[in-house]
Amino acid sequence: MMTMTEPASPPDPQTLPTSDEDLGVPVSVKIRERIRSAGKRFHANDNIASFIEPGELERLLDEVEHKMRGVLESLVIDTESDHNTQDTARRVAKMYLTEVFRGRYVKRPAITEFPNVEHLNELMIIGPIRVHSACSHHLCPIIGRVWIGVMPNSHSNLIGLSKYVRLADWIMSRPQIQEEAVTQVADLLQEMIQPDGLAIVMEADHFCMHWRGVKDTESKMLNSVMRGSFLKDPNLRREFLALIPDKKA
Ligand SMILES: [Zn+2]
Repeated sequence: MMTMTEPASPPDPQTLPTSDEDLGVPVSVKIRERIRSAGKRFHANDNIASFIEPGELERLLDEVEHKMRGVLESLVIDTESDHNTQDTARRVAKMYLTEVFRGRYVKRPAITEFPNVEHLNELMIIGPIRVHSACSHHLCPIIGRVWIGVMPNSHSNLIGLSKYVRLADWIMSRPQIQEEAVTQVADLLQEMIQPDGLAIVMEADHFCMHWRGVKDTESKMLNSVMRGSFLKDPNLRREFLALIPDKKA
């Protein structure tokens, strides 16, 4: 599915990377063109790592810094004499690309899967896993906890406990919508582990509720995804939900 984005604009001479051999086309334009010609999506919560060539993230950082400086200028902040904001554009660019939205730009963490040699077929619960994300509407933080229930079968692959944390972090480190984030985690784990059942519950604070808008500091959002045996077997579902400690359900 193609998405709405602005057409590739002619290169802004100010963004010209001086060392670039191909006439200073902004690196984001090149990456977007590759994604489009592959017919792939680049929504806020999509991973685009396979379209980024070595060295391009560094140039993307320069490009985002430049654009962010423009945002600060339009906000009428004197970044020249205000020592607090002199390097803000660079810091924000770095924070987006290498920290809070990193899950868009880097490949999935390498995870070793083990065959289920013991034929484990008991409910496993992993959590709470602390997760940090941002809403794709306002880029405000979403901070919460995730619980994962896995019902393996003898053909399932197993992954180490800490690997669930790394995979969840990779998905969450993108501008997200909580419901879609939980679905993305479920799809990834389903594909890797191939369990009989998979259950995910996420509870999170949305800072677009606390910081702006209605400024409601109490509300949390809770949602879940149930697959396979968790969907078919109400007892299993109840067991999973009962074993999640102090969940504000
Ligand atoms: Zn929001």
